[in-house]
Amino acid sequence: MNTMQQEYDLSRHNSFAFPAICPAFYQPHSLSELEDILEHLTSPFYILGAGSNTLFTEATTTAILQPDFQGITVKDAGDSILISAQCGENWHTLVSFCVENNYYGIENLALIPGSVGAAPVQNIGAYGTELADVIDHVLWYEFASKTIKKLNRSACKFAYRDSIFKNQLAGKGLIVEVTIRLAKLWQANLTYRGLDELPSDATAKEVFNKVIAIRQAKLPDPEILPNAGSFFKNPVVDKQTFETLKVKYPNMPAYMQDNGKVKLAAGWLIEQSGLKGYSTGEVGVAETQALVLVNYASKNGQDIIHLAQYVQSQVLAKFDIFLQPEVRLLSSKGLIELTQPNQA
Ligand SMILES: Cc1cc2nc3c(=O)[nH]c(=O)nc-3n(C[C@H](O)[C@H](O)[C@H](O)COP(=O)(O)OP(=O)(O)OC[C@H]3O[C@@H](n4cnc5c(N)ncnc54)[C@H](O)[C@@H]3O)c2cc1C
Repeated sequence: MNTMQQEYDLSRHNSFAFPAICPAFYQPHSLSELEDILEHLTSPFYILGAGSNTLFTEATTTAILQPDFQGITVKDAGDSILISAQCGENWHTLVSFCVENNYYGIENLALIPGSVGAAPVQNIGAYGTELADVIDHVLWYEFASKTIKKLNRSACKFAYRDSIFKNQLAGKGLIVEVTIRLAKLWQANLTYRGLDELPSDATAKEVFNKVIAIRQAKLPDPEILPNAGSFFKNPVVDKQTFETLKVKYPNMPAYMQDNGKVKLAAGWLIEQSGLKGYSTGEVGVAETQALVLVNYASKNGQDIIHLAQYVQSQVLAKFDIFLQPEVRLLSSKGLIELTQPNQA
C-alpha cells in the first residue's frame, strides 16, 4: 500500500546529503500504485531514483515521485541473454548479479551508484563501456496516454551522458523497466587506462574487481564524503578549438569522437585551473579527483552552486570553455540550469 508523506526530509535520498524538504513524497511499488498517485498529483513533481545525480539547490524541493518497482528476470535468447530489471533495483546489484551468473558486458559499469531506472537517462558510462552498448529496450510509462511504450535502443537517442529522456521525453513519463542484452561468451574490454594493467585473459570477475578497486581509490565514497560523482560533463569541442588549445597545452588529454569533434577531460581542465583540493566554507573540489565536488559539512545546496559557478568561471577564464553540469539541479520550482554569464 502506497502512502504519501508530507514535509519529508530528503537527506537520505541524495548523495550530497542535503536536508531538503519536499512538500509531498510518493513511493509507488507497482504500476497500479503509480496510476493511483498520478490521478491525484496536481502539483509539479520530480522523479527521483537514488538521488546520486541530483543536487537539491534549496531548502525545499518540488513534490517527489520515487518509483520503487523491484524485480529482475532473465530470458535465454540463443547466443545472448536478456535481463530485465525494474526501475527501483540498484544498478550495482544488477551488475553483481550478472557477473555472478556469467552474463557478460556490464562489468566495467560496476559500483556506479543509483537506480536502474535512472541509468538510461544520462546513459551511464565508465571505463570504456556505456549503457547504450548493451541496452535492448526500455519500458516507459507515458503520463498522457497512461500506457507503457517499448523504446528500443535507437528510439532512446543515446549520446554521451544524454538520451531522449533528458530531452523530448523529459517530464512526460517515467522508465519502469530496463532490458539489457548480454553475451554468453566472455570478451574483456580492457582498453581503458587502469584496466590495461590486467592480463588479456582476465576473467569478468577480475575486471569487475579491478573496476571497483580503481573507483574506490579515485572517487570519494558518498557515504563518507557526500558527493554526486562527476559534477561536470567532459566538454566536447570542435577540432579547431582543440588544435589551438593543444599548441598551448601539449599534454592535454583528448579523445577523438566519431563525429570529428574532440572530448576533453573536465577534471584535467579544473586541475590545471589550480582547483584540485580547493575548498571554501564547508564544500570543496575533491582532493583525489577534480571533477567531483564534495560536501564536507554544509546543510545548504547553494554552497555547491556557488562553488560550481566559481569552478566554471575559472575554467572559462583559463581555457575559454564553459563546463556544463552533469548533475541535475532541483530547486523548489523544478530543474534549473547554470548558464554561461552573458549568454543567459
Ligand atoms: C560516487 C559517484 C560516482 C558516479 N560515477 C558515475 C560514473 O562512473 N558514470 C556515470 O555515468 N555516472 C556516475 N555517477 C552518477 C550517477 O551514479 C548516475 O547518474 C546514476 O544513474 C544516477 O542514478 P540515481 O537513481 O541516483 O538518479 P537520480 O539522481 O535520482 O536521478 C537522475 C535523473 O534520472 C531521472 N530519473 C530517475 N529515475 C527515473 C525513472 N525511473 N524514470 C525516468 N527518469 C528517472 C531523474 O529525474 C533525474 O533526471 C556517479 C555518482 C556518484 C555519487
